Amino acid sequence: MRILIATRNDHKLHEIRAILADSGMEISDLRSVEGAPEELPETGSTFVDNAIEKARFIYELTGQVAVADDSGIEVDALGGAPGVFSKRFSPEGTDQANNAFLLQKLAGVSDRRARYRCVIAVVGPKGEFVAEGRCEGSIVEGPRGHGGFGYDPYFVPEEFPDRTMAELTLDEKNAISHRGRAFRQLPSLLTRIHS
Ligand code: IMP
Repeated sequence: MRILIATRNDHKLHEIRAILADSGMEISDLRSVEGAPEELPETGSTFVDNAIEKARFIYELTGQVAVADDSGIEVDALGGAPGVFSKRFSPEGTDQANNAFLLQKLAGVSDRRARYRCVIAVVGPKGEFVAEGRCEGSIVEGPRGHGGFGYDPYFVPEEFPDRTMAELTLDEKNAISHRGRAFRQLPSLLTRIHS
C-alpha cells in the first residue's frame, strides 16, 4: 500500500520509514505532490487541529488519502510551552536557537519535566481519524549525542534515564518515541478509513 505523508521534514521521514518498515507500506512525501506549497498551513492551537489541517489540505489538493503529523515538546515549568510552537520557539527558528532559547527560559528552574507529543491525522473520503503518541522525560542542562534532531540532545526519556534522545540508536528512539507510538497506530487508522 502506498501512503502519502504530508511533510517535507527529512528527519521525520527517516524515522517514519523505519517505524513502518515491516508494514509493507510504501511512503511518499510532499515532494511527490504537484502544486503542494513549501509550508502547509498550521493555524491551530492544538496538535490535533494542526495535524488534521495539514492532512485535509493535501487530501483536498490530491483526492488521495493523506496522512500528516504534528509534534512538539511540552515543558511543565513553562506551562506546556513551546507545544505547537516547538518548530518556531525562538525568533530564528533553528534547532540550535530553539534549544538555546529553551535553556535560557529554564535557567534556575529545578522542575525539568517535559514530554514529546505526536498526533497523526488520516483524512480521506470516509472521514478524519487521529491517534497520539507521547514520550515522557526531562530537559538536561548540556547537550549530549548527535542522533535525532530538534530538542533531542537535551531530552532524556524516562525509558533510558542515562541517555539523551540524541544518544539513542534510531531503533531505540523509535521504540519509545512519541512518533513511534503514534505511527504504529497508522495501520489500524487506515483500516478504518478504507472500510
Ligand atoms: P512540526 O513539523 O510542526 O510537527 O514541528 C515539530 C517540531 O517539534 C520540530 O521542528 C522540533 O522542534 C520538535 N520535535 C518534534 N519531534 C521531535 C523529535 O522527535 N525530536 C526533537 N524535536 C522534535
